[in-house]
Order: sequence, then C-alpha cells, then structure tokens
Amino acid sequence: MSHTIAPVLGEATIQELRESVRGDVVTPADDAYAEACRVWNGAHDSHSPALVVRCIGAADVISAVGFARSNGLTIAVRGGGHSVAGFSTVDDGIVIDLAPMRDVRVDPAARRATIGGGAVWADVDHETQAHGLATTGGLVSTTGVAGFTLGGGIGWTMRKFGLACDNLAAADVVTADGRLVHASDTENPELLWGLRGGGGNFGIVTQFEFDLHPLGPMVYAGPIFYPADAAHDLLQAFREWAGDAPDEITALVNLTTAPPLPVIPEEWHGKKVAALIAASTGPADKGDTLVRALRGVAQPIVDLLGPMPYHVIQTLIDPLWPKGIHAYYKATNLARLDDELIDRLCAIHLATPGPQCEIHIHQMGGAVARVADGATAFAERSMPFVLNAVTGWHDPHADTAHREWARTTIAAASDASTGCAYVNFLGDTDAARTAYGEETYARLVSLKDAYDPTNVFHLNHNIEPTAARS
Ligand SMILES: Cc1cc2nc3c(=O)[nH]c(=O)nc-3n(C[C@H](O)[C@H](O)[C@H](O)COP(=O)(O)OP(=O)(O)OC[C@H]3O[C@@H](n4cnc5c(N)ncnc54)[C@H](O)[C@@H]3O)c2cc1C
Repeated sequence: MSHTIAPVLGEATIQELRESVRGDVVTPADDAYAEACRVWNGAHDSHSPALVVRCIGAADVISAVGFARSNGLTIAVRGGGHSVAGFSTVDDGIVIDLAPMRDVRVDPAARRATIGGGAVWADVDHETQAHGLATTGGLVSTTGVAGFTLGGGIGWTMRKFGLACDNLAAADVVTADGRLVHASDTENPELLWGLRGGGGNFGIVTQFEFDLHPLGPMVYAGPIFYPADAAHDLLQAFREWAGDAPDEITALVNLTTAPPLPVIPEEWHGKKVAALIAASTGPADKGDTLVRALRGVAQPIVDLLGPMPYHVIQTLIDPLWPKGIHAYYKATNLARLDDELIDRLCAIHLATPGPQCEIHIHQMGGAVARVADGATAFAERSMPFVLNAVTGWHDPHADTAHREWARTTIAAASDASTGCAYVNFLGDTDAARTAYGEETYARLVSLKDAYDPTNVFHLNHNIEPTAARS
C-alpha cells in the first residue's frame, strides 16, 4: 500500500498525540501501518485510516478521543476487530485500538473478573479456567469481549449463565466528551442498561467487570454430523426437544458443508451435512441423558459429542474462521420453527454459493428468557430460536453471491420472524432501529442523547441521537 498522512494532519499535530499517549500512534508512514489496519473481516480490509492509536490504558483512550474531536476525525473503535459489518476500521479517520488492553484479573472468591477493553475470549477463558470458572463467551475464541458483550453475547453457556451482557456487572467507559465514567447497578445504571446490548454507542469501554460461574475443566460438548438428508428430521426433533430441555444444555443446528477436518471421514469432506452442536454446563458424565432424544434421529456420519475440556469446545471452530476471510452475516429472531420454514431452510442449504455458507439455528430460552423483556438493551428475550445465515469466502469475486444467499435465507424466514434481530449477527450497517424494535430503540435514543448527543461514536449499529435527525 502507498499512503501519505491525511492532509488535515500535520506531522507536528501527530507528534502532539504521540506525546500524550503511552501506546503507539501508527500512521501510513510507518512500517507497522499495513498490519495495524487489518481487521478480521477481509471484506472490510481495504480501508486506510489516517491513524491507528494502540491504547495502553484509559488515559490513552481519553487522549485519542480528544484528539479525534479537535481534528474532526471520524472514530472507529476496535476491541477484538471481529465486527462483521466492518465497524472497527475507517477511511481517513482514527482507529482507537484497544488490543494492547487485554489484561484479565480474576477474583476467585468473589467470582468476578476484570477484563480489559481489548481482550478476546481466549484471554478470558485462559484466566478463568485456572480457577474452574467461566462466563458466557463466543463460539470462536478470537472474538473480542467488547463488541460481543456490548451487542449481547450468544454462547455455549447462555441458557444456564445468561448472555455475556447479563454477566456484565460493571464497566469503565470513556464518553464522547472525554470523561471516564463507571457504570454499575448503583452508578449510572441507565448506562449499564445500554451497555447490555446497545453496542458501542455510548462510549469506549476500557474495562469490564464480569460475574463468573463454576465450570469445567471437563464439560459435555461437541458436534454430531448427520447427512444433509437427515436435516429435516433433525430440525423437527430439535424443535420438539428445545422447549423442554434443561438450562444446562445449549444447542444449535448448523446446516453446513463438512469441512476437511481429520475428525470427519474423508468421503464426507465438502458434502452437505447437518450438524447438531451442543454444550452442557452440567456434569460431563451425565450429558448423554440430555441429548438422547436427538441422538437417534439418524445414523450420524460422526458423533463427537462427549466429555471434553471446556477450552476445547471454546476453540474448536477457530481454524475455520481465520483472520482475513471475507464474511457477511444476516439474522433474525424466530417466533417459531415451523415445518414450512424447515422445508425452505433445507432447500436453501443445498443451494449455497460456497462451502462456508451456514444456516445456524440457535436454541434460546433458559436463563436468557428469564431476564424480563426490556430489562437490558438486548431487549427481546422470549424468542425460542435465533436464525443466523453465516457466510465466509476467500475469493473477492464471490462477495455478491454470498451476501445474496444470506439475504435469501433470512427472507425465507420472514413470516416466522419476530421482527427483531441480534445486532452482532448483522453484516449490514443500517439495521439498528428494526433490530431493537421501536420501544427499546426510543430508550436507546434517550441514552444516546445523554452520553453522545453529536454522534461521535457512530461506527456501530447506530442509535442516532435526536440532534442528528433534526
Ligand atoms: C468468527 C466470528 C464468530 C462470532 N461468534 C459469535 C458468537 O458465538 N456469539 C455472538 O454473540 N457473536 C458472535 N460473533 C459476532 C460478534 O459478537 C461481533 O462481531 C462483535 O461485534 C465482535 O466484537 P469485537 O470486539 O471482536 O469487534 P470489533 O470489530 O472490535 O468491534 C465491534 C463493535 O464494537 C465496538 N467496540 C469494540 N470495542 C469496544 C470497546 N472497548 N468499547 C466500546 N465499543 C467497542 C466497535 O466500535 C464496533 O462497533 C462472531 C463474529 C465472528 C467474526
């Protein structure tokens, strides 16, 4: 890449920023620039920020926000860099990158973890599992705690421990006007409400406090792969089983293509399959009883559901989703999974433009649904399933076909949709109002008006402040 420093910023101005932060300030003139620009989603990797500031602490974040505002730079905030919609990079603006802030400290007695704003789930699992503790994290361990939690956080332990945002007890936040505020149940509680699902709209979280729960090291978890022609029966059985399943177990069905992994018989590599993937927070040796009703649905290709270390299920699919892959997701909350929808999903499954086109049907309920609708900004809680059309590809020319396939998948579910969606599963940038629903959106706008009335933090599923609309 050949770049020059954006014309608005002279070297002297950048030097001022360098002197006001402990972390690195990376400009197009630096060798480190190309790597500093990289985000996980290769479809959004061509952006050229004017600066990337790698923050080491809250003071750096405050300086970077002040610098951006003084110089009229658009701010992109980066935690783990996994934004599917590409929010954590920007052309000609400033990337406030919290990647150096990955410290995780566990208080085993209080069952609490303090977690830096740039940590990824691998960092958290590593520190918490040393004490036999865990909190709800992502299905891929390189995903950032920040974006994941601020959007909601769907993971393997959610039906027992709640979503990631339900375990968020407190946070330190740098606001648009450069203050560091604390949000908890007793201090700025409305801000905490908004951080539990409202995304990065209200400020930059420099530190999270999470509740932890006893778990592991062994859990009962893993996938069972069935031939695609069993998908219909599997989904019907999954639907019947899901409603009565105990909180210990969280499962999803993934209509996908068998990846070329050594654990899958070679003759199935590249063929359409239906996978049941589940994890239990209960005793590892009792897991079988929880899934017996599903196991017999068809002759599996391979059954890998059994006792395994928690850190293994947390990292199992990491190799399939490496940094640089192009990706697009589209999702909707499902009010029901009826036979007609199952028929449509099974047909769409067979007509994918590439091998990494996956239809995920997440089982919800349990602890997620016991939080009252509206009690957090992740407002809708009662849907039994979340449908996510997940696509990944490497050839840039395959972009349109993958996006269209994901959109077709979600459109096929429109009559079973609740109308709302989980923002972290949306690859489009403009979907916030419909995703949250009118009531929650209105409350989020009031919070945005209080904390960011001029929309300094707008590279996110944006809650537009009132002033920006008039
Ligand atoms: C491979 C992969 C697997 C995934 N698996 C799951 C899953 O199992 N469950 C699930 O629920 N979701 C999952 N997701 C979606 C994921 O939750 C979102 O992409 C999430 O936004 C990623 O967070 P991040 O910090 O890595 O992203 P980033 O790209 O760094 O940021 C995403 C958004 O959060 C904001 N943000 C980041 N850091 C901060 C901060 N410190 N303070 C304030 N705002 C901040 C950014 O401005 C941006 O708007 C997955 C995504 C990918 C790519």
